[in-house]
Amino acid sequence: MAQANIQTIKDSQLVLKKSLGQNFLTDQNIVKKIVKTANVNKNTSIIEIGPGLGALTEELLKKANNVLAVELDQRLIPILEELFINENFKVIHEDFLKVDEKQLKDYCTKDSIKVVANLPYYITTSIITKILLEFSFIDELYIMVQKEVAERISAKAKTKKYNSLSVFCQTISDVNYEFTVKKTVFNPVPKIDSAIISFKRKDITVNIYEFEKFVQKCFMQKRKTWINNINVAYKIEKQLLIEFLNKLGYKPTLRSEEIEVLEFQEMYEEFKLNFNVI
Ligand code: SAM
Repeated sequence: MAQANIQTIKDSQLVLKKSLGQNFLTDQNIVKKIVKTANVNKNTSIIEIGPGLGALTEELLKKANNVLAVELDQRLIPILEELFINENFKVIHEDFLKVDEKQLKDYCTKDSIKVVANLPYYITTSIITKILLEFSFIDELYIMVQKEVAERISAKAKTKKYNSLSVFCQTISDVNYEFTVKKTVFNPVPKIDSAIISFKRKDITVNIYEFEKFVQKCFMQKRKTWINNINVAYKIEKQLLIEFLNKLGYKPTLRSEEIEVLEFQEMYEEFKLNFNVI
């Protein structure tokens, strides 16, 4: 199919849209590796975002119980419907950022619901955030993103790439950088390499919407100390913040990238109690 994929592009004289992040997978080994990593089987319902010309879809359909694809490019819908005349396949013509839970849930019949996708790069973060925040019925995600983004999402505290997105994603899920994918396996070839990253949802008790706002404020300006960021964001006197940090066992010079994911949650709960703001 990966080779047929290139042929389909030629046959249909399709002009690929850079604006929609259309870099299609052309290597069957990578396709298989992704589906294997996602541990797709007949107990799985798959949601695929941006099926393109179906490189991943075909392999997913071989392994999963059913596949629901969401594709924004209208021109690809009849091609996909013709390629996969299959009762286990359905494609919705929609912007994934606009789909609601009902549109997806109605078609996901199995207990284990996973997203497997080679994401359009221009909206990667919005898509991940939407799934993690709004679609709690989705248990696992296996997605291809730019390598740099995968490194940031999976970064650990006290490293350069650790930021508010790392904390948010790792609070909601167990994140794993699975493997790097060379840019040469795409058509057209993008400027940078990609990576597969996985998310396995965890049970959380924290109010994630409020927590997320707090964490973003902590990282507002990465070069500043935690106290300086929070002082600007919440207009709380520095002396009170020094005392707060001292109570939690931190130095006044603390920077947000030094705070571990779990420590962030403890800090957020204490912060709410102490200052009654979020
Ligand atoms: N899955 C295919 C593959 O691996 O060869 C195509 C992946 S390509 C990187 C991204 C796909 O997402 C394109 O088909 C593009 O049209 C589609 N797309 C872009 N923005 C979208 C959106 N907001 N909602 C759904 N699909 C989108």
